[in-house]
Amino acid sequence: MLHYHTIPVTAFQQNCSLLWCDATAQAAVIDPGGDLPAIEAEAERRGLRLRQIWLTHAHIDHAGGAGELARRLGLPIVGPHEGDQFWIDALPQQAAMFGFAPAEPFAPTRWLHDGDTVQIGQETLAVRHCPGHTPGHVVFHAPQIDRAFVGDVLFAGSIGRTDFPQGDHQQLIDSITQRLWPMGDGTVFIPGHGPESSFGRERRSNPYVGGT
Ligand SMILES: [Zn+2]
Ligand SMILES: [Zn+2]
Repeated sequence: MLHYHTIPVTAFQQNCSLLWCDATAQAAVIDPGGDLPAIEAEAERRGLRLRQIWLTHAHIDHAGGAGELARRLGLPIVGPHEGDQFWIDALPQQAAMFGFAPAEPFAPTRWLHDGDTVQIGQETLAVRHCPGHTPGHVVFHAPQIDRAFVGDVLFAGSIGRTDFPQGDHQQLIDSITQRLWPMGDGTVFIPGHGPESSFGRERRSNPYVGGT
């Protein structure tokens, strides 16, 4: 069985998620943007062994702690898609611009592509490439628990910003309607910021993508 626990990290209150397989107590951490002691303490408290870092995209609030955590614990960094290489290269500038501590540089162990799978313990999740907010943004779908970890693609009542370099509004809308909606109305998503919602609820009421 797959479980998760979300920990808001950094001044941006980014929803970092611990995700684990209870048969093996092996855990992945999605988007460790910062506040690593809080993430590691939660894993410790639950008796979990951190095994992998998964990234939805390379904005500082999502990826800022990945390099340090990978180095200290010897973890692979899985994702995002290589379209975000320029954002990884720009982590020092992102840190300076937003007042973050300097982020350790890193190179992902594995880039992700649409249709890939990732595995933690005995559990498998599906990867969808959802560009628009950033060109290399990916999301992680866990159909066994009807959950999707969508980073900054979609929020409860809103959608991701597209005014960054290589952001693309129409591409973001297409990602949402063509790659998220097919996961099903009952799928609950964990966004990069703010409360959870379901795709069905957003299809009905989200002013940016409602009625699509
Ligand atoms: Zn972002
Ligand atoms: Zn974010």
